[in-house]
Amino acid sequence: MFIYLSKKIAIPNNARINCLAWNKEDGYLAVGGEEGLLKVLKLDSGGKSESDDKPKGLAASSNLSMNQTLDGHSEDVRVIMWNELHRKLTSSDESGIIIVWLMYKGTWYEEMINNRKKSTVVGMDWSSDGLKICIVYEDGAVIVGSVDGNRIWGKELKGIHLSGVQWSPDDDNINTYQNGKLERKDVWAMCWASDNPQLLSVMEKTRMYIFKGVHPEEPIACAGYICSFNDLEIQAVLLDEIIEAPEKPNGNHIIKLEVKSLRDTRQLLEKVGITETIQFIEDNPHPRLWKLLGEAALKDLNLTTAESAFVRSRNYSGIQLVKKLQTINGNAIKKAYVEAYLENFEEAERLFIEADRRDLALSLRQTLGDWFRVIQIMKNGVTAPDLLLETAYNSAADYFVHNNNWAAAAEYYELSKNISGLIECHFHLENLDALEKLIDKLPEKDALLKRLSDIFASNAVIGPAVKCLLKIGDAKSAVDLCISHNNWDQAIHLATQYRLPEIANIFKTYSAHLVDQNQLLKAVEVNKQTNFYFTAAVHATKLAQNEINKSNRNLLDIKKLFVYSALLMELSKTKSAEEEVLNSDSDMLLVDSAWRGAEAYHLLILIHEHLYANKIHNATITAFKLQEYCDIIPPQEVYSILALVSCLDNEFGLCSNAFTKLQTLPNITKAEKEAYDKLAVDIFTAQDPVDLKTYTLKCYNCEVPVIDWCTSCSNCNANFPSCMVSGCPLINNVEDKWSCNVCHHVAKSVYANFRKSCPLCHTSIERNSSNYK
Ligand SMILES: [Zn+2]
Ligand SMILES: [Zn+2]
Repeated sequence: MFIYLSKKIAIPNNARINCLAWNKEDGYLAVGGEEGLLKVLKLDSGGKSESDDKPKGLAASSNLSMNQTLDGHSEDVRVIMWNELHRKLTSSDESGIIIVWLMYKGTWYEEMINNRKKSTVVGMDWSSDGLKICIVYEDGAVIVGSVDGNRIWGKELKGIHLSGVQWSPDDDNINTYQNGKLERKDVWAMCWASDNPQLLSVMEKTRMYIFKGVHPEEPIACAGYICSFNDLEIQAVLLDEIIEAPEKPNGNHIIKLEVKSLRDTRQLLEKVGITETIQFIEDNPHPRLWKLLGEAALKDLNLTTAESAFVRSRNYSGIQLVKKLQTINGNAIKKAYVEAYLENFEEAERLFIEADRRDLALSLRQTLGDWFRVIQIMKNGVTAPDLLLETAYNSAADYFVHNNNWAAAAEYYELSKNISGLIECHFHLENLDALEKLIDKLPEKDALLKRLSDIFASNAVIGPAVKCLLKIGDAKSAVDLCISHNNWDQAIHLATQYRLPEIANIFKTYSAHLVDQNQLLKAVEVNKQTNFYFTAAVHATKLAQNEINKSNRNLLDIKKLFVYSALLMELSKTKSAEEEVLNSDSDMLLVDSAWRGAEAYHLLILIHEHLYANKIHNATITAFKLQEYCDIIPPQEVYSILALVSCLDNEFGLCSNAFTKLQTLPNITKAEKEAYDKLAVDIFTAQDPVDLKTYTLKCYNCEVPVIDWCTSCSNCNANFPSCMVSGCPLINNVEDKWSCNVCHHVAKSVYANFRKSCPLCHTSIERNSSNYK
């Protein structure tokens, strides 16, 4: 830091200056001088005029932003003092007049005047909170007043010539000093002892002086900044060293210095003896010194001296120790307690063990919370309650937990059998195998099982998580967990095993999940297993629809799926779960439509079989029947195959009807229509649209002849059921039929005789043997 002359302020008329006071807070400078001179100046830093072209690095020329002459004193102004907190200035002159000045709207005004006029004010000092002022007069009068002008306290120090005053740091004491006694030069730091208003430490150049009253001790070489002063000890910081390397401060940069009386007491205790030291401390009393003496007396087991010293140092714990020692027999144990009190714990432990009192060593370490030592001492054969060893192991483990050493903590928790601790350790170590082994160690319904299950679940390890939940007795949560991880088999297994009332919903959810995943076949299976036959049937119908929409559809597969669906529908009528009782008409419609789907594709397959077997007329009859299934098989396909087989069969009337249907279908393309038109022209220019051969059979009911492909009588409206083997309607021989007990479809008895199973639903005919009619 450089100090340079920044501004020279001239005082008019060459008036002599007596005193100066700088207001550090606001930057005001008060000047007092002869013949009532009092001025308040304020020096601007000049930082505002940045636009000026001044060379860099030079201080800006400063201006006086305030230069006010304060009129009020008529004699030499001797003392001026700022009250920075309350923005007041106090001035006093030779006659004893004191004026308090106050700043209002940028100008200083007289706030109050005190005119004691008996003697000259030689010193004034505001307390650090700015609420009290102490004024001392040359004649020995000391007055304390409040900031609002009231007198608080006063004293006449007779026969003493005072020259100054200063508040102690705690504002409770006032130090007055006589002229000339406390005049120091080159002081750059000072600090009052916080516990003793008589002690002041002062730094002068590279020496530290400690003042007791106004008497300095011999200086100590030191260049530290004083930061605290109490208990006869000064703490100083080597700021210069720290600033040299501010990023690397270390403990050596803080130094402790002892007041001479403390050093002397140590010396005396060490070199001379307790009795002589007592005398010295009597002359220089301080609690710290008595404590030092007390501790020295303890070491000698001089309990009487120790007790009185501790009493005088107000050291309660010391007094307690002395009381305790008085009840103990055996100096070795006493010494051990003293060492423990002096915080020489190793030595104390050694002494206890030497005196064969491991129990005391143990309780010492226990009190200190040194659990590792506790464990060690106990391993060396001290009998102590199991609980203590357990506490020791747990505390040691806790120590490692605190340091994130989970593996070491786990070892100690293992020793203390602390499962809760072990769970947290293995959790942090991500040791799921170890966690799994803990499940068996916990009793049923233990709260820790929940924590374990949460850990497993969060790691997606479902098996052990379920095991925990079941051990708690929470099968519902176990099932939920399985479901949330799509582990349906286990969910259903558990729900069934534990007879959870929610099982129906679980299946519903599962089946919906399977449908979402397009796993219809599995959905059918699941619903079937759980007696949700109707839902299973609906899904089976969807499967059939999916197969129909495939480009490489398999007719037999479609039929099988419809049959499967229909059989499930049949089961649902009698065996469905309670939750699934069919009642709506639309449900019943679905039951029927499942069989119709099976019939449609069965007949379509039959037509192909007849064609390949060259049974063309049978194909025609079956194709005629197929017209009833245009809601299941696309009409275009139905009429195409009818047109084909009837044409081959020379039944051009039927063929012409089929073409008419095809040509008038609403959804065909233009190209398709043109192709149908052309084909129709080709066929029907060569042939008249009439059936060339007609076979008739007599209606079993009214005996009127009907064409062999008719499915009902045009005369009596009798219905002719179709034989599922030949596809032909049973017109004249309806009594001669076999009926399937399962699907209720019929066949000509003669055909059924050659079969082992129902042609439509493939149920074994042996089981149906009683159904011949
Ligand atoms: Zn009839
Ligand atoms: Zn059948």
